[in-house]
Amino acid sequence: LEADEDDDRPKVAIIGKPNVGKSSIVNKLAGENRVIVSDIAGTTRDTLEEQILLDGIGLKLIDTAGIRETEDVVEKIGVSKAVGQAENADLILYVVDSSVNLDESDRQIIEMIKDRRGIVLMNKSDLEGVLDSRLLCKLTDKRVITFSAKEGIGLSELKDAIKDMFINSELTFNDEWC
Ligand code: GDP
Repeated sequence: LEADEDDDRPKVAIIGKPNVGKSSIVNKLAGENRVIVSDIAGTTRDTLEEQILLDGIGLKLIDTAGIRETEDVVEKIGVSKAVGQAENADLILYVVDSSVNLDESDRQIIEMIKDRRGIVLMNKSDLEGVLDSRLLCKLTDKRVITFSAKEGIGLSELKDAIKDMFINSELTFNDEWC
């Protein structure tokens, strides 16, 4: 793609704490292993941008630096940086690890994205889960998709949801999702 060709492509920002599987999901959506996935929390330091074609729709996927719970000032800057990167996005994919309970960072993220168009991905659904999708849906006012980047669970549902938003202009929250 030429640099000036992709400017009007919808931007999809992937946010969530370190290690929830953001890079793995980008890889799944991009269909290639172009992002280095690591077991070490917080390894994805910089924002990575992937141009992808989703059943013919060109998208810009923005993988933000992780957001984590800490008192550290630098990490707080990290939070606002991730939010800033998500600010220009047309759609936010908020990823949680469904085998781990939500914490203060998640509450911050949920608050920050409450008026934004978004989808919640309950990743790692191949593991024993502790999160309830209906609760998460009510908490976020967003569509929640049970997902596993590892097993490919939820991938077609996610693609359909993204297509709904950008092709069928399904912009508003539908409480039937909860
Ligand atoms: P990020 O820090 O949010 O980008 O997370 P990564 O994509 O780097 O993934 C962190 C770790 O979780 C890696 O060891 C991945 O292999 C693992 N992981 C990612 N998605 C899944 C999943 O759906 N199921 C399981 N069991 N592990 C996953």
